[in-house]
Amino acid sequence: MSLPSGKLRPNSAAAFAKAQMRIPGGVNSPARAFGGVGGSPIFIARAEGPYLHDVDGNRYLDFIGSWGPMILGHSHPAVVEAVIAAIYDGSSYGAPCERETELAEMVCDAIPSVEMVRFVSSGTEAAMSAIRLARGWKGRDLIVKFAGCYHGHVDALLVSAGSSALTLGVPNSPGIPKGCTQDTIVLRYNDTQQLAELFAAKGDQIAGVMLEPVVGNMGLVPPSVEFRRELRRLTHHHGTALIYDEVMTGFRLSYGGAQMLLGDEPDVTALGKIIGGGYPVGAYGGRADIMKFIMPAGPVFQAGTLSGNPIAMAAGIATLKVLKQNPPYARLDQLGQRIETGLNRAATECGIPHRINRVGSMWTLFFTDRDVTDFDTAVLSDKAKFARFFWEMMDRGFYLPCSQYEAAFISAAMTDAQIGEMLIAAKESLHALSM
Ligand SMILES: *Cc1c(COP(=O)(O)O)cnc(C)c1O
Repeated sequence: MSLPSGKLRPNSAAAFAKAQMRIPGGVNSPARAFGGVGGSPIFIARAEGPYLHDVDGNRYLDFIGSWGPMILGHSHPAVVEAVIAAIYDGSSYGAPCERETELAEMVCDAIPSVEMVRFVSSGTEAAMSAIRLARGWKGRDLIVKFAGCYHGHVDALLVSAGSSALTLGVPNSPGIPKGCTQDTIVLRYNDTQQLAELFAAKGDQIAGVMLEPVVGNMGLVPPSVEFRRELRRLTHHHGTALIYDEVMTGFRLSYGGAQMLLGDEPDVTALGKIIGGGYPVGAYGGRADIMKFIMPAGPVFQAGTLSGNPIAMAAGIATLKVLKQNPPYARLDQLGQRIETGLNRAATECGIPHRINRVGSMWTLFFTDRDVTDFDTAVLSDKAKFARFFWEMMDRGFYLPCSQYEAAFISAAMTDAQIGEMLIAAKESLHALSM
């Protein structure tokens, strides 16, 4: 097998070999294994500001940021300080603490459609609980999702799932009984007509429609205005819960998430990633009358030993405070615009067919000559070209998502100069591809 990288990273290679002996595939989440680009993953020694440092002593400008959470960059002093202070108060109580209410108030202040919120420990748990709530609230079973949207590894939602399941070519995972997915309907993203047809036929049986309001998990794909409008109109009309999965976009596209940026009002919102500031936190929230269906306020069961963990809450509170007091969003959008323009120019000069989708600090360079608006158009991308681009960038010290179907993230720790360096490397890389 030829090496996809021009560079040897012996310590990472050894660490990966050792990990594979005791951890399936050597990783604890499949997207980390570089399955979409070949070669073996780098092992991280530490991370600081906008940079990752691997165990071979290489430094990378990090455009993944732990797949979304690290919007402030790594080891932000305010977050580090808050976590250290919290640790001395104990790690977990199995009893309520005031930090949970403090973060809940911050989330509700940030997102008007969220009047009450329940904390869990991951985005998967948030999405799973959100659909249970919708079903319990409505007394209906059917759930609608969209091909290419990823909502964590929830049985009922792992149907044509995006993200790593896509890269591995396992749209339906073994181990999920038919019974778990028979009440899940999968539609095409941005397909307003398909949506209208489904609601005309079955609207009154549908408990909830769940979607990423801006998709990050088939690469970046924004929603059309018409699609969003019809979604809200139809769900309203049929008494169906509209569930926005903002695990990735919450506090990312604006302080109030994608829904604030777009001016939308879903019934239920799932959160994760940024609200934990790099620690394991998920959340789901919505109107108070809906949220009061959750036990012990209501009948829908949901619980968690480490839910609302005091240290994770401290990290989330510290992260949100920085984002609120010093909003990075306008600057992140400017950096994003610069990347979009620069990559477009470079790819055009090199004669490489491409599309760049971007919203704020999230973007994807697709190697295709067709607009990418849904899963069907995303999969037309040239994955071999993407893999070569990925390794050209890695070898130049820029860590991009290791799959065509993942969005890249800009962090607030990045400077204009660093974005400029990335664009120079991207130009060289695209040039190498065109040879
Ligand atoms: C990452 C993600 C999830 C899953 O969150 P985990 O914390 O990985 O379980 C769910 N939905 C979306 C949109 C995500 O991006």
